[in-house]
Amino acid sequence: PRPATTPGLADARSLLSRVWGHGDFRGLQSEVVAEVLAGRDVLAVLPTGGGKSVCYQIPAILRPGLGLVVSPLIALMTDQVEALKQQGVAAARLDSGVSLDERSAIWAAARSGALDLLYVSPEGLAAGAMMDRLAELPLSLIAIDEAHCVSQWGHDFRPDYRNLGLLAERFPHVPRIAVTATADARTRDDILRSLRLEGARVFVDSFARPNLQLSAERKESASRARTDARVIELVRERRGKSGVVYCGSRDGCERVAQALRDAGTDAIAYHAGMDTKERDRRLERFLAEDGAVMVATIAFGMGVDKADVRFVIHADPPGSLEAYWQEIGRGGRDGEPAEGITLYGPSDIAWTLRRLDGRPMAEEVKQVQVRKARQLFAMLDGAVCRAQAVRRYFGETDAAPCGVCDICGDPPQTYDATVPAQKALAAVQRLGGRFGRGRVIDHLTSRTKDVQPWEQQLSTWGIGADVSPNGWRDIIDHLLFEGLLVEDPNDGKPLVGLGDPEAVRAVYKAERKIEVRRLPVRASSSGRRDRS
Ligand code: ADP
Ligand code: ZN
Repeated sequence: PRPATTPGLADARSLLSRVWGHGDFRGLQSEVVAEVLAGRDVLAVLPTGGGKSVCYQIPAILRPGLGLVVSPLIALMTDQVEALKQQGVAAARLDSGVSLDERSAIWAAARSGALDLLYVSPEGLAAGAMMDRLAELPLSLIAIDEAHCVSQWGHDFRPDYRNLGLLAERFPHVPRIAVTATADARTRDDILRSLRLEGARVFVDSFARPNLQLSAERKESASRARTDARVIELVRERRGKSGVVYCGSRDGCERVAQALRDAGTDAIAYHAGMDTKERDRRLERFLAEDGAVMVATIAFGMGVDKADVRFVIHADPPGSLEAYWQEIGRGGRDGEPAEGITLYGPSDIAWTLRRLDGRPMAEEVKQVQVRKARQLFAMLDGAVCRAQAVRRYFGETDAAPCGVCDICGDPPQTYDATVPAQKALAAVQRLGGRFGRGRVIDHLTSRTKDVQPWEQQLSTWGIGADVSPNGWRDIIDHLLFEGLLVEDPNDGKPLVGLGDPEAVRAVYKAERKIEVRRLPVRASSSGRRDRS
């Protein structure tokens, strides 16, 4: 039976404090909740830790009928459902891990009106039979969590999400709310279209996370041992604090975790090569132990909610600014200061591109992913406030510098390297992708003994003698980070070729300026940075 009066924000607030123990809504939560309570469709883009779940949980409880939540990961569903049950909310989940008996019990509870929230996976819904059963029930709302997964323009596209547009047809009178932490303008439009949410109100909260202190460091070399050593050093400097170290591969993850344990840190490896039970055990340990460090691949992610993570270190950079923000955003969820430190190098770009190349996706989609990776690397190697760069990327054009990142704290000197960049691009073009980075520099500075006769005929032979080899290395690295040059892996000896033709043309015409950071001179035994 419908309540005599429709529930409003006051009811929502009292529920928030009674069941969740929170004094009041924060950010855009109250607006989103009011909209959903009123039965209208919503797309809410709230940053990680912004409290997206109560935006649909509270209206689902207050509105008559069953609230359906579509969620992409079993672990995420399990967490949320267990938390809700402990808070006394009638919640259940239907996923592949639920037995037949439990299933019938859940459907019986749903039919009798005893259930407030039912979590399902997108593939479960796509099976069809589930939609039919749901159609017989009064639904209070349909929530689609991690909605960016529906978009090929997002960074985590999942084909199973594509069918969710059907919900609009099957349940035309049920309000739907899509939530995500990461969606640029294009992804937002795509979500609205794909989920048939054309009439939805869109809420985009600020992406500012003032308690996060961001920094990025160029790796000194492509050597894994060096990177591992740097990670261990960074973690030891933060001894006793809880943190996450992201690695690009399972091997790397095991290796770094072992090295950290050898160095006396309580480090736990976590990746998709472990079965679910093992992963759950490790997650529980991480949540329970003070000062534990999780060393993980991206398998460790969505929905992980440990409030006191004090640092997130990327031993290998992620694939996009969206992923970067989401992963860094796992730090400081309690609002206290936390650090995000990213190590990156030219070999990481080559690796990222190679991995994308191996993925089964449409060429158009691949191009988008390549561009996203390049935007991330350009930010990492850039001289713009980290937080400002990310927030601009998400459409906050008026974001101010954060004041606490490595760039704000110690603004790097940059110089205009447009002319040297033109020379380097021209040389790579003339050389036709035959040479690797070091040999391109030899060509520019005419410092090689094994010069080829045809090479000497080129107009670019020796045109860069005014810049030191180290200077060239910085410029060429930067051109790689900006995607103006690309390294094609070739038997481990990468050859350098031209990148995005349009961007290259813009540099030739000096329409695009190239700013290169003057890197600090490091004391290094390798002689890599030996200039004074
Ligand atoms: P996300 O947006 O990342 O999914 P969650 O819904 O998991 O965020 O919420 C993140 C944390 O913030 C949770 O611990 C949640 O209980 C807490 N939270 C949510 N809303 C509020 C609020 N209004 N006041 C205080 N804490 C809140
Ligand atoms: Zn800053």
